[in-house]
Amino acid sequence: KPIVAVVGRPNVGKSTFFNRVTKSRDALVDDRPGVTRDRLYRDARWEDTEFTLIDTGGFLERDDDPFAGHIRVQIQQAVEDADAVILMLDGKSGISPYDRDMIQMLRNVYKPVLYVVNKIDGAEQETQLADFYSLGKDNFWPISGEHGYGVPDFMDELVRVLPPSEPDEPDDMIRIAVVGRPNVGKSSLINRILGQERHVVSEVPGTTRDAVDSVCTVGEKQYRLVDTAGIRRKGKVSLKIEKFSIIKAFKSLDRCDVALVVIDAHEGITDQDITVAGYAQDRGCGCVFLLNKWDIVEKDHNTTKRYYEELRMRSKFLSFAPALTISALTGTRVHKIFRLVDEVYRQYSTRIGTGQINRIIERAIEKNEPSLHLGKRLRFYYATQVAAKPPSFVCFVNYPEAVHFSYQRYLINQIREEAGLDKTPIQLKLRQRT
Ligand code: GDP
Repeated sequence: KPIVAVVGRPNVGKSTFFNRVTKSRDALVDDRPGVTRDRLYRDARWEDTEFTLIDTGGFLERDDDPFAGHIRVQIQQAVEDADAVILMLDGKSGISPYDRDMIQMLRNVYKPVLYVVNKIDGAEQETQLADFYSLGKDNFWPISGEHGYGVPDFMDELVRVLPPSEPDEPDDMIRIAVVGRPNVGKSSLINRILGQERHVVSEVPGTTRDAVDSVCTVGEKQYRLVDTAGIRRKGKVSLKIEKFSIIKAFKSLDRCDVALVVIDAHEGITDQDITVAGYAQDRGCGCVFLLNKWDIVEKDHNTTKRYYEELRMRSKFLSFAPALTISALTGTRVHKIFRLVDEVYRQYSTRIGTGQINRIIERAIEKNEPSLHLGKRLRFYYATQVAAKPPSFVCFVNYPEAVHFSYQRYLINQIREEAGLDKTPIQLKLRQRT
């Protein structure tokens, strides 16, 4: 799915715009306890085109000097990593400092860039655009994220300029993404994996534009390490402080089966590690935590257990993701990664027969009847698996909205237990049938 970065100062109306163009998500419940994270990205669709909108600015720390730091980095990442860029300006407050600089930075970019003036609530307010033409651009799209004025025309243009999404060619390889904060050891790990002599390695073009994957053969099996070229290329020369690129992370997560979430165990588990893992879960990937730099962690016989427990506690929504302590530097336990990946993938791509899933649901209900909710007696009619990768089930119920979240989680846990799916995300959707 193409990624559209929306850049602009805070309060220009990015999230209102997101809400307007986001496809409404129906009550899809996965096994994450009701966490509502700030929605700085949204999957959207216009006509037949699907894409992801990302407010890149929302992921950066605020600086004292917004242009020198924050906005500049935001635009750089958008230009480097996104498939299209929307610069959003504020038609109500008029031209602001930095608008000219932002436009300057986006000049000569070989990617679609669309300039939008938001908060133009109707044709009569288009006169407010006049000021903006003094910025040296003559193609501003007037829109109202709040009321919808101008949005359809603008969206038509956006999907017209987006590169066509080329779905990955199906092959038999398990696709692995390596994600994590800067400096946790991602490139060291990839180099270590690809450097092992018994692994036959080749670089292959990813089917998505500018992605280069590596294929490595372990034993009889081939694995595709998604987007590795970008990670390996970094090298030691770049001294500039690397910022976490949410767009890069999303791009590789969207193409993988299993995400390796690398954590610097020496530094300890940080909030950002958990956030990155949350993205992997949001994108429906299988997930393995790698606690790297284990060689320099001071340890006794209990240390591993303590780390695992902390990880569990801080990422409850990923309780199905196995963890492994490794050292990319010395190679400790790196070979074990593939066995874990195999197991996660086996579960991730599982299909369960309709008979079996219905028996599981029936037994679960027998064991623990759903309580009356909102005064309604619940009936579960029929369940079926509608997709794999990750396993996704639909269950027909008379009053889906009356099923308590905790009961849904109970059903998911029963499926996990009875079908032996303890290491993969699972989705369970309730549909109305009377
Ligand atoms: P990336 O930004 O996630 O790709 O991280 P790098 O692979 O560039 O590693 C960042 C730093 O951590 C480098 O100085 C590595 O040598 C070091 N490093 C990576 N893995 C290990 C490890 O397992 N043990 C130790 N001691 N250092 C490591």
